[in-house]
Amino acid sequence: MLFSEVAECFAKVEATASRLEMSAQAAELLKKCEKEEVKPLIYIIEGNVAPSHEGLDIGIGEKFAIRAISQTSGYTEKAVLAEYKKSGDLGSAAENLLSKKSQMSLASSPNTLSKAYSSFVKIAQMSGAGSQESKVSLLSELLNGAKPVEARYLIRFCLGKLRLGIGDPSIIDALSMMKHDDKTDSQTILRAFNLCSDLGEVAEYYIAGKDLSHFSTQPFKPIRPALAERLSNAEEIMNKLGKCAVEAKYDGLRMQVHVREGRVDIYSRKLEKMTHMFPEITQAASKLKIKSAIFEGEALAYNAKEKKYYSFQQTMQRKRKYGIEGMAKEFPLRLFVFDLMYLNGKDMTLEKYSKRRKSLEKLFSKTEPLVPSELIYTDNPKKLDIYFTDLIGQGLEGIIAKDLSQPYVAGARKFAWIKLKKSYGALADTVDIVIIGYYLGKGQRQEFEFGGLLAAVLNDETDEFETIAKIGSGFSEDEMQSFEKMLDEIKVKDKPKGVNSKLTPDFWVKPKYVITVAADEITLSPMHTAGMVGETGYALRFPRMMSLRDDKGPEDITTTKEIIEMFEMQKK
Ligand code: ATP
Repeated sequence: MLFSEVAECFAKVEATASRLEMSAQAAELLKKCEKEEVKPLIYIIEGNVAPSHEGLDIGIGEKFAIRAISQTSGYTEKAVLAEYKKSGDLGSAAENLLSKKSQMSLASSPNTLSKAYSSFVKIAQMSGAGSQESKVSLLSELLNGAKPVEARYLIRFCLGKLRLGIGDPSIIDALSMMKHDDKTDSQTILRAFNLCSDLGEVAEYYIAGKDLSHFSTQPFKPIRPALAERLSNAEEIMNKLGKCAVEAKYDGLRMQVHVREGRVDIYSRKLEKMTHMFPEITQAASKLKIKSAIFEGEALAYNAKEKKYYSFQQTMQRKRKYGIEGMAKEFPLRLFVFDLMYLNGKDMTLEKYSKRRKSLEKLFSKTEPLVPSELIYTDNPKKLDIYFTDLIGQGLEGIIAKDLSQPYVAGARKFAWIKLKKSYGALADTVDIVIIGYYLGKGQRQEFEFGGLLAAVLNDETDEFETIAKIGSGFSEDEMQSFEKMLDEIKVKDKPKGVNSKLTPDFWVKPKYVITVAADEITLSPMHTAGMVGETGYALRFPRMMSLRDDKGPEDITTTKEIIEMFEMQKK
């Protein structure tokens, strides 16, 4: 397939707001692909050359993209920069300049999808001295064979800014639609994706006609994490689950550890590789007497002298201060393992919790610093309450109750796990929301130019970010300064695609940074679009910033559905 066909489809996708329509457009494109083109095309639509856990980022610097545009269009770099300033988008600048050129000269041989993809991979893999120049010449070569509309997407892709507004759920629907014209297979495709986080691989498998219901987990393909629902109290939990496992909830860093024949990799909650950051965990995992395993736990730093655990925030602060080696020595981590998803070649995700737990306890019996999470089994709400209070007294966050008969529910928030946390004000939980804009300071704050944030939750049915709070408090002066700097770098001219807002901040930003916010309660509001029906949406009352959540991306934030559930819980 020609890359120009891909670009023309992208232009259509970009111009549509309907999620279903976007999937239909992508389905049409997928239908035109040769079998071997499907995987690369899926990665390209995702804006990447490979699944993000492989860490292969394309990232050409703007300066070098400008040079490539200049070389192919015949305009000076200064002229390219001036065109860029006009539109604020280097992709559109390239399109405009190349359209002027194409009237004068004939393009060289056209780019195929395969050629474009293999150049993207080469660009992503190049590093070291002289690599930027080689990247520029590869990009120039692609631009030479490009129609103007192709140039728009080649440039955006190479800058890591494709942002078509079509997320993984819509791509999954597109795959199903290419076979059935509807979402018949979407759930089966989603399940396979949740087990390996590699949509390209799943698509290839699906298109080859293989049965996705037999798709299973494999080491070094991270599993999308299981998530916990909320209920208000012990009684409700017991009514829902009956006799269950009540585990301590550690406020640490979630880790998914993959092991096979001595090789170890550790993935974060966002499924990014972070193996080299935790040498003590890697070493302990490599010594396990097994062939292969995937397990998950919460890591906390431990101060042996004071017999004290540190929270996630404190752990991260110490890590920055002491560096990786220093941290491993001074404050060794302990990983509280709470699930086992794969063992010696066997996919354990379909096994019941009780069976997984039995294998987990057997495996981690003398394996410090890898230890099983603490738990009790009970069907008595009073016992749960006593245990909860005891854990809070030890400085922990609360409990997670687990249904003994449920499998590991990858990538979904289900009642297989139910969390109960110590409360922060009247609201039973903090929320994680994404920053979509910011305001300038007034009065005293003017010197920092930063006056507060506009933040949103995710409506996972429409794939839109809906505003829920303006946050003006909870920031230290240092934080205000660093926010101003961080947000300044991701400022965008107009409201980003996929953002639903009635408010207009002083500056819009690309939805990227996630913050944890505490509030007094959830109220109804005519200003915010979260869960809006008619004129009324939901808002956070007295929101205060608690921390920046580096381990969550915008797709992992609190959803509108969760906000509505929390609002209903609060009424009780
Ligand atoms: P979520 O992960 O549900 O989106 P979150 O990251 O803000 O939300 P919480 O809502 O506080 O975290 O609770 C769920 C998290 O608790 C899990 O993601 C995991 O990192 C952590 N956790 C701590 N102890 C356990 C445990 N024993 N079992 C499962 N998860 C645990």
